Amino acid sequence: MRKSEFFVIKVGQCDTCKGAGVIQHPDWRDYWEKYRERFPHGPRQTATGLLAEQDFHDDFWRSRGYDYREPPEEIECPDCDGKGTLESKVPLAEALAALRELAEGVRECGYE
Ligand SMILES: [Zn+2]
Repeated sequence: MRKSEFFVIKVGQCDTCKGAGVIQHPDWRDYWEKYRERFPHGPRQTATGLLAEQDFHDDFWRSRGYDYREPPEEIECPDCDGKGTLESKVPLAEALAALRELAEGVRECGYE
């Protein structure tokens, strides 16, 4: 190993939440999937139709153990703790090469 090595901190967008810092609760993703299966054209706008939708809603969340109090639809991203970005240690040489590539790309696009 060399005596000293230099690193920089790369701050990149979190892939899981695409930078939003929040993701959809996995149970809500299942909910909407089953909802679309059950009501492919939306519930009928009649008393019976809306009751069927309410029953579907209650049954789903009860089956997940929520008992009428469903969880929030958006939750903090577990991968970036809600920051939307991830930090990683990158060797300086690698960072410079990436910056050079970026600069060349910009020049090719005619932004300079
Ligand atoms: Zn994230």
